[in-house]
Amino acid sequence: MKVVIVGGVAGGASTAARLRRMDESAEIIMLERGPYISFANCGLPYHIGKVIEDRSKLLVVTPEDLKAMLNIDARIKNEVVRINRTEKTVTVREVESGREYEESYDKLVLSPGAGPIVPPLPGVDLPGVFTLRNIPDMDKIKAFVDQKKPARAVVVGGGFIGLEIAENLQHRGVQVTLIEMLNQVMAPVDYEMAALVHQHLIFKRIRLALGDGLKSIEEGEAGWLKVRLSSDRQVDAELVILSIGVRPESMLAKEAGLEIGFRGTIATNQHMQTSDPDIYALGDAAQVTSRITGEATALALAGPASRQGRAIADHITGRDARFKGVWGTSVVKVFDLTVAGTGLNTRQLEQAGLPFNSVLIHASNHAGYYPGASPMALKLIFSPEGKIYGAQAVGIEGVEKRIDVIATAMYGGLSVYDLEELELAYAPPYSSSRDPVNIAGFSAANTLRGDVTQMHWEEINKLDRQEYFILDVRLPEELPLGMIDGAVNIPLQQMRHQINEIPKDKKILVYCQTGQRSYFATRALKQLGFDVYNLSGGYKTYSHAVGRQSNFDVFENVTISSREEILEVPPQSAISGAEFSVDACGLQCPGPILKLYNKIKEVDEGDIVTVKATDYGFTTDVEAWAQSTGNRLLSLDTEKGVIVAKIQKGTPKPQAAAAMGQDKTMVVFSGDLDKGIAAFIIANGVIASGHKASMFFTFWGLNLLRKNHSVPVKKNLVEKMFGWMMPRGTQKAKLSQMHMAGMGTAMIKGIMKKHNVDNLTTMLETARENGVRLMACQMSMDLMGIKREELIDGIETVGVATMLAASDDSNAVIFI
Ligand code: FAD
Repeated sequence: MKVVIVGGVAGGASTAARLRRMDESAEIIMLERGPYISFANCGLPYHIGKVIEDRSKLLVVTPEDLKAMLNIDARIKNEVVRINRTEKTVTVREVESGREYEESYDKLVLSPGAGPIVPPLPGVDLPGVFTLRNIPDMDKIKAFVDQKKPARAVVVGGGFIGLEIAENLQHRGVQVTLIEMLNQVMAPVDYEMAALVHQHLIFKRIRLALGDGLKSIEEGEAGWLKVRLSSDRQVDAELVILSIGVRPESMLAKEAGLEIGFRGTIATNQHMQTSDPDIYALGDAAQVTSRITGEATALALAGPASRQGRAIADHITGRDARFKGVWGTSVVKVFDLTVAGTGLNTRQLEQAGLPFNSVLIHASNHAGYYPGASPMALKLIFSPEGKIYGAQAVGIEGVEKRIDVIATAMYGGLSVYDLEELELAYAPPYSSSRDPVNIAGFSAANTLRGDVTQMHWEEINKLDRQEYFILDVRLPEELPLGMIDGAVNIPLQQMRHQINEIPKDKKILVYCQTGQRSYFATRALKQLGFDVYNLSGGYKTYSHAVGRQSNFDVFENVTISSREEILEVPPQSAISGAEFSVDACGLQCPGPILKLYNKIKEVDEGDIVTVKATDYGFTTDVEAWAQSTGNRLLSLDTEKGVIVAKIQKGTPKPQAAAAMGQDKTMVVFSGDLDKGIAAFIIANGVIASGHKASMFFTFWGLNLLRKNHSVPVKKNLVEKMFGWMMPRGTQKAKLSQMHMAGMGTAMIKGIMKKHNVDNLTTMLETARENGVRLMACQMSMDLMGIKREELIDGIETVGVATMLAASDDSNAVIFI
């Protein structure tokens, strides 16, 4: 038997090695276009980052090794240019000499992989613009970084390769801007899970531009590139990496008349045979079946490629071997975080038309009392019958272990009820007596049994506030982290004594910080006859998901030409004060904040408290807490995965309740330039005088909140027409009077500039940064066909009840 294999890396080399183990007499020829075989693609970003220092470690075997150990004829720099199916030969071109020759086969295996997508945009071929697929690509990027020492890079694409490159470039001291066209990175996970990654990327000083794409790259001065985005924003960089996605290399198969399947992959059956039974295909270029939907799909990952190679070798040598399909189990490291998932996410389930429910829990990787415990968010998605559809987890340690357990459970056809019963290894350094997988199983089974009804973060802002009473069962000390608008705080510890304050004629939505205490409250209230709902994932998930995701506009139009400016957030110096420390490592949210709160209570004004914590959510929590309690965050950093925050005790801010009476609410009905300016001057003034300002944008006022570029969203014809006719964003706003075909508007802008008055865009930005609450009226958005994705970041979409609740706390409601 003579087997020819096209492609000598993950899939090709696995097939060749297994074939030899199955058939000592087979003639095995492996043809590889590039200069290396069997290299570790997955390690490429880490050599650029010098995490894997020794380049030779990426070269797993050489052709000589394969010949000596397995008697495989591996030929590098030999490209297959044609498949001649009738003759059962391939035409091979020697890359260096250009000489062509024919090679016959009994069985042909195609593992040509997938190439990086390079969009046909101006400038993608300029020096300094790279893609990363193989060793030569890696060498070029590494040499560029070593020699040119670029200060700034743009990474286009927030998938796992883009994130790995971003981290490794940052590791080399390069300031990275990450551009992602979707509104989230890591498309395999759901938005609220990706939101945790966004906050971490921002904390790690990555400049994150979400919902924006690459438009063009132009040459600038002294080797700099001007990267222009779809929004017309511009970033200057010396290095650009395109990691937009991959395209299967199926042209050879297509030209040979083989059937092409899902998104350009080579169609295969369960034995990985193509439409020609003597030709097999595998890896990134081959179509596979989703184990959940049974539909054709594609999955560019190394594990499936390797297992497919084994199945193909076994089938060629006479066994009834099958590759039954994929779940899509994956994991990626993003700085200190591990992000892992398996199965389908909620978007994919919606597209597949499969009904589902989900739970999101926050748990510790191991017992909290054992040093080094860290939190993880684990989301479990399941059918109404309890079939597991997928799971996603984000945390520091032990994340992939939980996903692997659930992936195995899915393989075995186990349900969420089985997860409740799984007996998993436990000792304090490794897990808890109730492993996060068990807890996710309990939570899902509770939901399906009707013990608790879950509500998800994305439903909150759509609630009819007349119908619901929102109950916050956290401790008062946790409230500076923020509250859901209109919620009433009755701590769980007091709930049973204050039960009369909870209305029986309304639906009750209960939340706490992580979803556990609210679950206890939900059970109690349910048994007392209340119609009660639990916020899955608690305030922690909600606040991460509705908060600002992208920090790019902060750096908009910043041209950096020196390395000194890379550190954007220099630590602040403390004037004086005694030093204290708090060890909150291992404590789950809100534990670290509560410990900090108690310490701050004990110390004197001006004293400095250093807190160490392992809950990565603490990075955002501590900032919000310090801001709302009048304390000063001096620095925030990580040391070997431990978050270290220095806080100087300040003058306590007046209690929120005392300040409420002075707050202002504005209803912004107009989208005119002059009225918008007036509204933001007032709002910023209210904040400057130490009170809260809420702005409720409705009808034409909504135009001020629109992004200034078109966003691809689904709309009907009327909505589209409205969209075209209405101005997009503050820059397009016109004067209400004397617009004079643009002359009046231009004049007023000029006058404002001359008098150093901020323009409307800057005013809005200042308002947003100062904490002015910006709300868009959901009802007007629906009427005018404006979608949430079209609004700038940091805007809440709310109903009238929310505006009314805000006005209850204000002593003036201003209508503009
Ligand atoms: P490849 O391994 O790409 O091999 C295909 C080979 O075929 C290529 O070397 C190509 O030169 C050769 N070839 C193509 N056409 C011809 C021809 N006509 N003649 C001769 N030779 C040809 N996956 C994970 O699961 N985890 C990870 O962490 C991970 N990290 C990654 C990081 C990077 C930077 C990259 C690029 C990929 C990563 N992957 C990861 C994906 C994984 O490497 C691929 O899924 C896997 O390599 C696919 O195997 P394959 O055999 O299909 O293709």
